[in-house]
Amino acid sequence: MGDKPQKPRYLTKSLYKIGRACPTRLYYTKKPTEYADKSLDDPFLKALAEGGFQVGALAQCYYPEGIGIETLDHDEAVRQTEEYLQRDQVVLFEPALRFENLFVRADILVKDGNHVRLIEVKAKSFDPDSLLEEIWGKAKGQVKPPALRKNILSSYREYIFDIAFQTYVLQKAHPEFSVTPFLMGPDKSRKTTVDGLNQKFFLVKDGKYTSVKTEGDVSPLALGEKILIEADMSEPVNLILSGQEQGEEVSGLSFEEEIELFSQSYFQDEKINIPIGAQCKHCQFRCSAEGLKNGFQECMKAQGVKPHDLDGPFVFDVWNYKRTQSCMDQGKILMCHLTEDDFGNNQSEDPFALSYAERQKKQVQMQNECCEVPYCQTEGLKNCIEDFEYPLHFIDFETSRVAIPFSAGKRPYEQIAFQFSHHVLEKDGTIRHMGQYINLDQGYFPNFDFVRALKKELHHDEGTIFRYSHHENTVLCDIHSQLAKSTEPDKDELMAFIETITTKKDPENKGEFLWQGKRNMVDLCELVIKYYMHPSIVNGSNSIKYVLPAILNESKFLQNKYSKNIYGKQKPISSLNMDEKTWIQFEGKEVLDPYKQLDPVFTDYDRTTLDLLMPEDEIQNGGAAMTAYARCQFTKMSIEERQKIKEALLKYCELDTLAMVMIYEYWLALLRGEERRVA
Ligand code: SF4
Repeated sequence: MGDKPQKPRYLTKSLYKIGRACPTRLYYTKKPTEYADKSLDDPFLKALAEGGFQVGALAQCYYPEGIGIETLDHDEAVRQTEEYLQRDQVVLFEPALRFENLFVRADILVKDGNHVRLIEVKAKSFDPDSLLEEIWGKAKGQVKPPALRKNILSSYREYIFDIAFQTYVLQKAHPEFSVTPFLMGPDKSRKTTVDGLNQKFFLVKDGKYTSVKTEGDVSPLALGEKILIEADMSEPVNLILSGQEQGEEVSGLSFEEEIELFSQSYFQDEKINIPIGAQCKHCQFRCSAEGLKNGFQECMKAQGVKPHDLDGPFVFDVWNYKRTQSCMDQGKILMCHLTEDDFGNNQSEDPFALSYAERQKKQVQMQNECCEVPYCQTEGLKNCIEDFEYPLHFIDFETSRVAIPFSAGKRPYEQIAFQFSHHVLEKDGTIRHMGQYINLDQGYFPNFDFVRALKKELHHDEGTIFRYSHHENTVLCDIHSQLAKSTEPDKDELMAFIETITTKKDPENKGEFLWQGKRNMVDLCELVIKYYMHPSIVNGSNSIKYVLPAILNESKFLQNKYSKNIYGKQKPISSLNMDEKTWIQFEGKEVLDPYKQLDPVFTDYDRTTLDLLMPEDEIQNGGAAMTAYARCQFTKMSIEERQKIKEALLKYCELDTLAMVMIYEYWLALLRGEERRVA
């Protein structure tokens, strides 16, 4: 028997993207038996989480004459593509383009004679009237003179370089073609004219393959007014191809030099060593797994970091720090290398609150001194707490934005609020899981029911309402706009309710507000940022997924209270979803993270994979809920499967609001002097 043929080591679109983020990563990539990698590698979950799969399928429907190149075999795909390209006119989906060891599967290619339109379909929405201005870093209506258009805005670089890479490969493979590159994506200013558009595209998982299936009539006529548009990207792409784009690259090389280096190094499996820098913060190889190497640590060692410093904390672990790259350029790699001069000196208006710079300094100081006791500015916290009115309400929303709208008259990426949870804390200490809402029905737009249910929960009293992020305010303001355009019979009442509990800035007049609710929600996360820090959260994150385990390990009050069997449907602390639950459970000396005590949202994935849906610096844990919502909307499943997901989501959201209550209870104990702290 002969050896198994080696997979060709082509530089593809995804590898080019990885190389652009950091060229060294190319060496560690696609070596699952050698290097630990924490990036999400499941195509089905990825498609659900990123949500772009429907956009790609809809784009193809706009070209009914298109021919798909379906084979996954590189040589065969290239052969078929080349055969079709012999035709004078042809539209191809997923054509395979190869030049030397560069290999690209483009999204859509439209050939007419020798002219080719190369269309990259992205889920990112844009406004075609202002796209080019935005790419050059200008606001709508502000035109940058052509001579100054040399630097592509960072938020667009990844997309435009991707299109430039594909254009480069096509031009090299077919120099006889004149190529015009296009970006195709949802136009956020357009409304769909058909109901149920997004229920025409379903995601199907078949073993390790994921595909999109269409349902019903998907002819251009049945799809109504186009909501995806194509924008000509010739100007920025040509600037890149000519080597005149002036933005800074991690590699420090020109476009062609980069491609040459990446393709050669990847082909020969050689590591490209570049200096460690700000890019290392989000390195997918910053992780360990039994029997596998740690690529991140390999890089650190190669740059002189001592073995005992390989776990940091590093400069890029400083919370919200904007000077990472300049400090690392000066050789400051670890937090302990930072000095007073490396921080700003801005002060907070509240004399007791930490400004961002003070919070960063405090974090670094606590890490450098190996502090174990949390910081709390009790005076500031006390002042705030004295103003709060009982009963206290704790709410958390789960939301999604789907690229293709549910119903006629809606735009791409409308806000969808499908779930909330609500806990109440009374003045006498009574805690109740007061209410909740969830709607996962396929094709149903839940927002107006959601806000009706929320109003019902909150209108009984004037108690302070807490959220843990600005997200809840944004969602309600978005629903306010949707209501204004709706014909809902009670829309005035619902909009008036939203105005009482939110704040909305006037987009036309800086510093002015359209409204500031008299019962405006209080952001508990902001209170954490201003007054509290636990040294066990090394990266200074304020995400509830870090703060909750930290305070549960810290607080004697919480450990004592929640190690008893007091939480559940018939228990002193009532629950709507759990029969009984003892939240404090120890694993050795550590309290087991409550989020890890709940069943995973999907039963066919392990927890480690599902955790990858939650980016580390996300304020909320919404990634898994959003993905679960997408799965309920855009895949076929049984009633039982849907019910299981619903039950799991209800528990997670319940825990989100309970976590807020626990943080609050802990602070009350701290203010009573029952907990340790440093000032
Ligand atoms: S640790 Fe830094 S240099 Fe090494 S691969 Fe990761 S991002 Fe690149």
